[in-house]
Amino acid sequence: MTVPFFDGRRSFTDEWPDIESHLVEMFEYGKFSHGRKTEQLERAVRLFTGARYAIGMNSGSDALLLLLRAAGIGPGDEVIVPCYTFFASASAICHAGATPVFVDIDPETYAVDPAAVAAAITERTKAVMPVHLFNRMADMSAVSAVAARHGLSVIEDSAEAIGMFYDGVHAGLCGAGGVLSFFPTKTLGALGDAGMVITDDPLIADRCAVLRHHGRMGQTIGRISGISNAASVSGTNSKMDEVQASVLLARIPRLDRAIARRALWARFYDRRLADLPGVRIPARHTQRQSNQVWYVYLIEAEDRDGLAEHLRRRGIDTEIYYPQPLHLQPCFADLGYREGDFPIAERAARRALALPLYPDLTEEAADWVCRAVAEFAWSVR
Ligand SMILES: *Cc1c(COP(=O)(O)O)cnc(C)c1O
Repeated sequence: MTVPFFDGRRSFTDEWPDIESHLVEMFEYGKFSHGRKTEQLERAVRLFTGARYAIGMNSGSDALLLLLRAAGIGPGDEVIVPCYTFFASASAICHAGATPVFVDIDPETYAVDPAAVAAAITERTKAVMPVHLFNRMADMSAVSAVAARHGLSVIEDSAEAIGMFYDGVHAGLCGAGGVLSFFPTKTLGALGDAGMVITDDPLIADRCAVLRHHGRMGQTIGRISGISNAASVSGTNSKMDEVQASVLLARIPRLDRAIARRALWARFYDRRLADLPGVRIPARHTQRQSNQVWYVYLIEAEDRDGLAEHLRRRGIDTEIYYPQPLHLQPCFADLGYREGDFPIAERAARRALALPLYPDLTEEAADWVCRAVAEFAWSVR
């Protein structure tokens, strides 16, 4: 049988009547960008996360860039970021004009190692960007303590972390602010690209709202809008698409169900893969992270490439998160890092393999995946 890495079509079919009614409302209102559906979605996300402010954007990547700019990060600043993450975490820092300073990760959470953060601080460090990956949040009490001691902003790349709470606080709200991505494979996925900034800080929220719509272009606009001291700041067109906002509005009431379905399959994998030789299943959540959301089910295998090839021959698609740590990517070569600088991340990049995981996976498919993994694990032994 064939098992795709991700398939969201069945959920969309079930949700189609609700999507359609939001789309009809959008059509009747007649504003297809920056309109009422985005506002309604922002309200729904505020309710779901507990954020005071939510600012809809066209992608998680732009949300991250504008959040950094709104938090005052710019040229001359250093931002500490784990080297094991999606490209956008670091590219957003560069696009804001600042310099990413890479650090190694914790082998259990795959998130930034707080001790490494403390060791990387210089007089130019302005912020730290913890990234919450797969099914776990970073150790936010430790990261926040380091940041507070050194007066750094905490900007969370919480793009994967909708539904994750730490000590009762939703991911993205532990510091200055965070982002959500609604890329189709994410836990709450759109039918295209979309993202959002969430924050409790009114100033950051206001700046994000302005920046996503070209910024404030000089005094004329400042006078028109009645904002006397509006700084002239050029933004981007990063507004959220009303079609995607409509889709997400229809889906958000079923988000808890989708999270529960993902957890069901993660437990299935856990039970079946726990004791296989040469295979490591994901670590359990900590006491302080109040729950666990399974965006990605990531195993580690001694012979990762052999396992991936074996699964492919059995019709099973997998993904490698993340094949090359960012400090070794050619576009960051100028920063002067070398292989061996961050051994934990480099080891994870050689061993990590993500298995198919989505709410509508079937027992037959999950069983097929587990059989194939077990077959490989015992054969290479
Ligand atoms: C998905 C993701 C992003 C970017 O989100 P897009 O909506 O695809 O731009 C950023 N950081 C991390 C860790 C992600 O997983």
